[in-house]
Amino acid sequence: MGESVLISWDDAETFFHEFGHALHSLSSNVKYPSLNGGVRDYTEFQSQLLERWLSTDKVINQFLKHHETDEVIPKELIVKIKKAATFNQGFTTTEYLASALMDMEYHMSDPSNLDPDVFEKETLAKLNMPKELVMRHRSPHFGHVFSGEGYATAYYGYMWADVLTSDAAEAFEQSPGGFYDQEMSAKLVKHLFAPRNTVDPEQAFRDFRGRDAKIDALMRDRGFPVPK
Ligand SMILES: [Zn+2]
Repeated sequence: MGESVLISWDDAETFFHEFGHALHSLSSNVKYPSLNGGVRDYTEFQSQLLERWLSTDKVINQFLKHHETDEVIPKELIVKIKKAATFNQGFTTTEYLASALMDMEYHMSDPSNLDPDVFEKETLAKLNMPKELVMRHRSPHFGHVFSGEGYATAYYGYMWADVLTSDAAEAFEQSPGGFYDQEMSAKLVKHLFAPRNTVDPEQAFRDFRGRDAKIDALMRDRGFPVPK
């Protein structure tokens, strides 16, 4: 009783994430309700992007303070948190991608007489899946893509949202005012938040970024070499 409510870094990230969904909704200038929703492989992007503000100096110095001493979180800790972001990415990315690609392979194949056990083995071999790793979701428990139409062939969407997030975050990082650049922020609201589903997401991103999305920033974020 009477004590501060403390939250973990994960929870703080979730706050920023959900705040992203909120900002996306509140910024809407859409007239017709049917176009005021999200698009499957795009709708987590705005909220994931908002998470990036958590580790900016402004937020750190203003909010990440010790609840008793009022001291700002030590820089070394922030460095550690940022370094830890690439931990285990090889594993995480591979197990995820195996499932995402398998999802597409299943949905592009003729299902008659298909033996999932054989199909899974053959497809993984074709993908050069390292035998040390398993897919995040083996076929019998891949509820996402078989329990309804929503995620069928769309499991890749999580990573696509990550591609957009990293690329957009890098645009902020490289702008004169960083994450608090007014021009970038105005573009964010205008192109990525306000139109909701009235503009094709591909076009909306292009309007924001000045080009199509590229995977390079995501590769850098995950600590991988960028393919030439
Ligand atoms: Zn979300």
